[in-house]
Amino acid sequence: MKTKDIMARLQAKYPGESEYLQAVQEVLESIEEVYNQHPEFEKAKIVERMVEPDRIFTFRVTWTDDQGEVQTNTGYRIQFNSAIGPYKGGLRFHRAVTPSMLKFLGFEQTFKNALTTLPMGGAKGGSDFDPKGKTDAEIMRFCQAFMLELWQCIGPDQDIPAGDVGVGGREIGFLYGMYKKLAREYNTGVLTGKGSTWGGSILRPEATGFGALYFTQNLLHHAGKDIKGCKVAVSGFGNVAWGACIKALELGAKVVAISGPDGVCAIPEGITQEMIDYMLVMRASNRDRVEDMATRFPNKAFFTAGKKAWSVPCDIALPCAFQNELSEDDAKELKSNGCWCCCEVSNMGCQPGAIHFFQHNGILFAPGKAVNAGGVATSGLEMTQNAEHISWSGKEVDEKLHFIMKSIHEQCVKFGTQPDGKVDYVKGANIAGFMKVAQAMLEQGTI
Ligand code: GLU
Repeated sequence: MKTKDIMARLQAKYPGESEYLQAVQEVLESIEEVYNQHPEFEKAKIVERMVEPDRIFTFRVTWTDDQGEVQTNTGYRIQFNSAIGPYKGGLRFHRAVTPSMLKFLGFEQTFKNALTTLPMGGAKGGSDFDPKGKTDAEIMRFCQAFMLELWQCIGPDQDIPAGDVGVGGREIGFLYGMYKKLAREYNTGVLTGKGSTWGGSILRPEATGFGALYFTQNLLHHAGKDIKGCKVAVSGFGNVAWGACIKALELGAKVVAISGPDGVCAIPEGITQEMIDYMLVMRASNRDRVEDMATRFPNKAFFTAGKKAWSVPCDIALPCAFQNELSEDDAKELKSNGCWCCCEVSNMGCQPGAIHFFQHNGILFAPGKAVNAGGVATSGLEMTQNAEHISWSGKEVDEKLHFIMKSIHEQCVKFGTQPDGKVDYVKGANIAGFMKVAQAMLEQGTI
C-alpha cells in the first residue's frame, strides 16, 4: 500500500472533501509501514475498504420556527465501520456540517472506538442546523423532525447515536422522546448521553473532559512530569471544555483561558467552580459567546475579541472546540509563550502543520482519537448498563473510565514508542486502532 496512490485516488473521487481527506491521510501515513508488513491485509484490500463508509443516509429535515416560518435543513447518518461492533458515534448540529465533515468524524470514530477496548463500530451523523439563537421550542421541533427520518436507521443493537458539537443532554432528550413514539420501542440503549433518571450513565456529561485529563496525567507521568500547578489553556466553553475544566481544577492545575467563536477570556488567577458552573448557563443560552463570562465575572475574566486561547501563555494547551482550530502559527505562538504540551481533545483539533511543529520542537503531543475517547467509552458503559437494566454508581463509572484511559495510553506507548524511546502518540493511536479493526475485517471475510 502506498499512501500517495490511495490519496490520489480519493482526491479524484471526492474532490473538495478536505476534512475527510486530511483525516485519511494522517492515518494512512502512520500505518503504512506496519501495513506493508502484513501481506494478508493487502490481499484483502483492507485499507481500500476501510476508508469508505459502509453506508450514508441523507435526508431532508423540515420544521417550523417560532415565527411560523417553515425551515429546511439536511440530516445525515454515516455508518462507517461495523467490524468490531454496532455503529456508534455522535450527532453534530452545526451550520458548517457537510458530508466531508461527517465522513472525517466517522472515520476517526472507528479508530477511537477500537482504542476504548469496548466492542463498538464507528459512525457519525448530524445536520447543518445552526442552534445559535434558537429557542428551546425550536430545538425541540428540529430534533423531532430529525428523528422522524433517523429512527429507521438506528437501534440499540445496530447504531447508537449520542451527542457531539451542538447536541447535549437536552437534544438527546428530545430525540429519544420522538424515537420511542415512532418505534414503539422503549429500549433506552438506542441513544447515549441520556438524562441520569432515564437510563443515562452517571458521569457521561463529564466523561470526555475527565477522560482527556486522565490521559494527560498518564502522558505526563510517562514523561516524568506532573500536572499540579500547571497553567492550562482550554478552547471552547461547551460540554467537553466544561468537563476538562472541572477535572483540571480538581487535579491542581490552573485553567488560565477559555475561548469561543467571538474571542478569548484570559483568567489570570485560574478558573473557579462558580465560573465552570456558568459555562453551562452560557451553553444553554445558545448565544455562543464567551464574552458573557467576562460580563458575569468582570474582575476575574478578561475578554479580548478575535483572539484564540493559544494567545494566553500556558504550559498545557487543550483544544476542546472544533477541527483544525489550532494552526501552525498558533503552535509557534504557544511555544514562544512557554507551552510544552498539547493534548488534542477536539476531533482533529490541530492542523497537520501544527502537529508537525509540535513533534519537531520537543512539545509533547497526543491526538484527539486517544485523548477524547473517554466520552464514547462512557457511552459504551451506558450501553452496558442499559442492556443489563442497571445503573452503576459514579465511583464505579469513574474507575472504569480511569482504567480505559490508562489502557488507551498503554496502547499508544506499545505501538508508538520510537527507537529513541520517545512516544509518537499519533502513530501509536493510529496503529493500535487500525490493527484491531483490520484484524476483525480480515476474520469476517470479504464483505
Ligand atoms: N461525539 C463524541 C465523540 O466524538 C461521543 C460519541 C458517543 O458517545 O457515541 O467521540
